[in-house]
Amino acid sequence: MSKSLIERDLAVLWHPCTQMKDHESIPMIPIKSGQGVYLEDFDGNRYIDAISSWWVNLFGHANPTINQAIQYQMQELEHVMLAGFTHEPVINLSERLVSLTPPGLSRCFYADNGSSAIEVALKMSYHYWLNKGQPEKKRFITLDNSYHGETLGALAVGNVALYRDTYGPLMMETIVAPSPDCYLRNENDDWETHSRKMFKHMLDLIEKHADEVAAVVIEPLVQCAGYMRMYHSVYLMLLREACDHYNIHLIADEIAVGFGRTGTMFACEQGNISPDFMCLSKGLTAGYLPLSVTLTKDEIYSAFYDDYIKLNAFLHSHSYTGNPIACAVANASLDIFSSNNVIETNQELIGYIKKCSDYIANHPHVAEVRQHGMILAIEMVKDKQTKTAYSWQERRGLRVYEYSLSQGVLLRPLGNVIYFMPPYVINKQQIEKVLTVAEAGISIATS
Ligand SMILES: *Cc1c(COP(=O)(O)O)cnc(C)c1O
Repeated sequence: MSKSLIERDLAVLWHPCTQMKDHESIPMIPIKSGQGVYLEDFDGNRYIDAISSWWVNLFGHANPTINQAIQYQMQELEHVMLAGFTHEPVINLSERLVSLTPPGLSRCFYADNGSSAIEVALKMSYHYWLNKGQPEKKRFITLDNSYHGETLGALAVGNVALYRDTYGPLMMETIVAPSPDCYLRNENDDWETHSRKMFKHMLDLIEKHADEVAAVVIEPLVQCAGYMRMYHSVYLMLLREACDHYNIHLIADEIAVGFGRTGTMFACEQGNISPDFMCLSKGLTAGYLPLSVTLTKDEIYSAFYDDYIKLNAFLHSHSYTGNPIACAVANASLDIFSSNNVIETNQELIGYIKKCSDYIANHPHVAEVRQHGMILAIEMVKDKQTKTAYSWQERRGLRVYEYSLSQGVLLRPLGNVIYFMPPYVINKQQIEKVLTVAEAGISIATS
C-alpha cells in the first residue's frame, strides 16, 4: 500500500519546501491516520508529532471536541461569502478574539493563511497613512532573520536568506534592523541586556526613517522559521514606545507563537504591549483547517470608514475569507482553552520540558538549549567553544530527522537547530522520549 502511494505521489505531486530529488534517497512517508500526538503510517509505525505538523496542531490529531464541531457546522452551513453576508461562527470567533487579544485590538479581518494575513496588515498600514494624507509612509522595517510567509509581500518583509534571496529582484526593498537574537549575545550579557543593546540599532533606524516608514513588522519573542532564535520581552516594550513616539505602526506576527506556544496566550502579553496589527493563523484552527485573521484597532478601522465615492475602503478579499467550518473549528479550540485551563496547565509541561532538556546543554556538540514556553530549541554546532556551525552542505540536521523517524519521533530540524514544539496533549513520558531521541540523534549526527 505504502509503496504504491509513494509511486503515485511521485508521478503527480510537487511537495512544499522540498528538493524533490531528495526523494530518490529519502523516502516520504504516507500517513494513514492520526490520533492524539501520534501519526500512523500504513505499516503500523507510529510517530510522535513533536513539531505539531509544522506548528499548527494544538490538541492532538482527531480531537473529539473539534471533530464534533466540524460535523455540526458542515450540516448547518459549509460556506458563504463574507461580503454582504455574515454567519454565527465568524461573529462568535471575532468577539472572542477581540476579548482574548491585548487591549485595543477591536476589529477582525479574515483571510485563509498566514502569508495573506501579513499581506493584509502591510496593505492596511500603508493604506491608513494614505487615507490620512501621508502617502510617503510606505516603507517597512523588519528584523534580520525574520520570516513572515512566502507570498511576495510577506517574503519581502522576511529575511531568511534561504527563502528570500532567490526572489530578491522581484520584491520591494525593506529596512532591515539587526535581530535581537540572544544566541549571538556576549557571554557576559543576559537575554535582557542583549535585547536592550540590540534595540539601539532599531531605534536608530526608526529615528532616521520615521517619515517614510508605515510599520515595523516583528515576530514577538521567537523567530521560528529563523532557526528558532529567541529574544527577551523587553524588546517588545521598547519597540512599542518607539513606534508610538515616532508615529509608526507595529505589526506583530503571532502566526507561529500565538495560542500559547510561548507560555502565554499571546507572546505580546509578555512585553505588556498591544500592537496596531496582530496576525494569527496556524494554531487558530488547532491544526485542522486554513484560516487567518488580522486584528487591528478602531483608529485604523475609522480611517477607512467613509462614503463609498471617496474610495477609501479596504477592497481586499479572498474567496474563502471567514469560512464557517474553519471558524467553528477555531471556536471549538477556544472552548478547549477555557474549559481545560490550557495556559495554566501547560506551565507544568513547560517546567518538565526544561527539566528533561537541561542536560543536553552538556553535549560536546551543543552550543545552546533555549526555551520560550512550549518551544525548545537545541543548537547543534561543530565547535562548542567558538560556536562554529557545521556547514549547511553537510545536512547534519537531516541525520537527526532520519534517526528520530526510525525511533518513532517526528523532528524536522531547521538546518543545525533541532527543535520541539509539541501539541499540548503530549504527556510527560512522551516528552522524555522525544528529548532522549533528540539527544541520541545529535550524537549520531555529530559523530
Ligand atoms: C508560518 C508562518 C507564516 C506564514 O503562514 P502560512 O500559513 O504558511 O502562509 C508567517 N509568519 C510566521 C511567523 C509563520 O511562522
